[in-house]
Amino acid sequence: VPSSERKPEWLKIKLHTNEQMKELKAIMRGGNLHTVCEEAKCPNIYECWSNRTATFMILGSICTRACRFCAVKTGLPTELDQEEPQKVAIATAKMGLKHVVVTSVARDDLRDGGASIFAETIRAIRERNPLTGIEVLIPDFGGSEEALATVLAEKPDILNHNIETVERLSDRVRARAKYPRSLTLLQNAKKLRPGQKTKSSIMLGVGETDEEIVQTMHDLRAVNCDIMTLGQYLQPTKKHLPVLKYYTPDEFREFKELGMQLGFAHVESGPLVRSSYHAHEQVAQATIA
Ligand code: SF4
Ligand code: SF4
Repeated sequence: VPSSERKPEWLKIKLHTNEQMKELKAIMRGGNLHTVCEEAKCPNIYECWSNRTATFMILGSICTRACRFCAVKTGLPTELDQEEPQKVAIATAKMGLKHVVVTSVARDDLRDGGASIFAETIRAIRERNPLTGIEVLIPDFGGSEEALATVLAEKPDILNHNIETVERLSDRVRARAKYPRSLTLLQNAKKLRPGQKTKSSIMLGVGETDEEIVQTMHDLRAVNCDIMTLGQYLQPTKKHLPVLKYYTPDEFREFKELGMQLGFAHVESGPLVRSSYHAHEQVAQATIA
């Protein structure tokens, strides 16, 4: 039975397409840009793009790492496109984005892991789109504080770094990333730029226990992480990690309630939640809090 047929009802989504979506996709093609929304076939694309939120993937489409849940191609990355920061800024303006998320593959081949290009992209977006909220979803830059400082110097509205899974499964699920290193990164962001809003996400369904999820929430709160998202892991292809559990919408609601009790300013938790889902609302909540 194809895995899609075994998916619970709440994961089946209707695909919409309309003239507005076609127009937005054409803007992306024109700039030769990559979005996670399109490449990960994100089920929320209609809702997000209609609400003027999108996630760009910079630094190319080939990753130096190979996490077992991720559909991005692994290999030796292609050259850098020096025009990319400007292209992202122009596409942000053309799409009229209210909130833009900038993320990248891991570029362990670059001296600064691509931090300076993140910084340049933030600057370029802000110059052309002073009212757009900017969130960066960064790799761990191999733990380099200097690289992190380069990104923070441009004052992103949200500094997002995904912990992805619970500590016990981290080495198995993620390639080269380390659970404690991700926590340290989030902690350092607050140290290097006091007041910086931080965010992290975990995907559920790869073999974690409820206790471990709760522990991860505590660990994130211990480094003062402001925003947390929890979503269902879905297997991109048969070669990727299998889904060991589909959590129900009620279970996701319980994690959200717990997260709010633990003191997160905002928790987005649901089967189809992805790191950038409802990102615009998340910033609003974290700012009010
Ligand atoms: Fe794009 Fe993120 Fe929205 Fe998915 S959740 S469509 S990746 S902005
Ligand atoms: Fe995918 Fe990021 Fe892992 Fe690369 S580092 S394989 S882009 S999750």
